[in-house]
Amino acid sequence: MSEPWLYYSDSFLAHDTGGHPESPERLRSILKQLETSDLRRHLTVKNPRLIERDLLLRLHEPRYLAELEAFCAQAGSGRRLDEDTIASPGSWAAALNAAGAAVDMTEALLSDRCDTAFSLARPPGHHAMPQHSMGFCLFNNVALAALYALERVGLKRVAILDWDAHHGNGTEHVFYRDPRVFFVSWHQDPNWPGTGLIEDIGEGPGMGYNLNIPLPVGYGDAEFLRTFETLVAPALDKFQPELILVSAGYDAHHADILTQMGLTATGFAQLTEAVMKQAGRHCRGKAGFLLEGGYHVQALANSVSATIDTLLEEQARRFAESLGPAPEVDPLALDALIEKISAVQPLLQRDFKLAADILVD
Ligand SMILES: [Zn+2]
Repeated sequence: MSEPWLYYSDSFLAHDTGGHPESPERLRSILKQLETSDLRRHLTVKNPRLIERDLLLRLHEPRYLAELEAFCAQAGSGRRLDEDTIASPGSWAAALNAAGAAVDMTEALLSDRCDTAFSLARPPGHHAMPQHSMGFCLFNNVALAALYALERVGLKRVAILDWDAHHGNGTEHVFYRDPRVFFVSWHQDPNWPGTGLIEDIGEGPGMGYNLNIPLPVGYGDAEFLRTFETLVAPALDKFQPELILVSAGYDAHHADILTQMGLTATGFAQLTEAVMKQAGRHCRGKAGFLLEGGYHVQALANSVSATIDTLLEEQARRFAESLGPAPEVDPLALDALIEKISAVQPLLQRDFKLAADILVD
């Protein structure tokens, strides 16, 4: 297996959000940890392109693009674009590069130049809607990557696994009626933005290709892994993705300042190993990871390093953290949750057949 490619641009630091938790400090902390832990030496670092307008227009509305570009040009430091999202003059180029990294990564994976890749980009993307920004996100990077794989490279089936602590509502929205993308989201329940119900399984031709796993506060390593093994792995066996993209947010870490979940850096390593096992099984080991949230800068740096370390070592290691213990939870409720999701999820039913037009001829 080749060493992972890391996509990074200094333009990501120029997306100036003032004192907001989604800050350039997040990336600085990760970069510092990659240097000091010696991981950096093993990574091929790529400077992403600015995404082309025609690719952006495949997802985002022209009116939104015009408004966003004008807003960034006029914005002083830290002006609010919506109730949670801040943009500055550097945000336009940062967003074009973040989306460009998603597309570049997909191209490199699918042309066999690398097997795994990590996009160390901001602004994040999974809340962004076709017609507006949302939740610190400007362009939906992971959705643009999936659309590129489907429409430019010609894949038939892409899986997006979103382990950010918030529901990936933007990504779900884009592909809700689309059988070509199997979208999975783990998220804290209850939590902003309030979407991501178990019963939301897709609609029309996309019925059965959307899996939400809302988890109670405090759930961590054991519970994420168990839902991966009992729900996500069998669904992927049925769907057989040709590429796996991960919306890799790290705010489900127990130390995070915006959420109350219980993952540790070791848990993120184990989840990465589980993803790679599926990628090896279904798509020649091809998996791309895109940074979403994660707001405790040390927990974020530890967890991203744990992910990248697992991509290099091909197996999860234990990571000692000095961030206090993860919370204790009652695991009993998990059985009932798994049972409930299994009952409503079409991909987990024995007689569910994939749509004819997503099968390879
Ligand atoms: Zn999040």
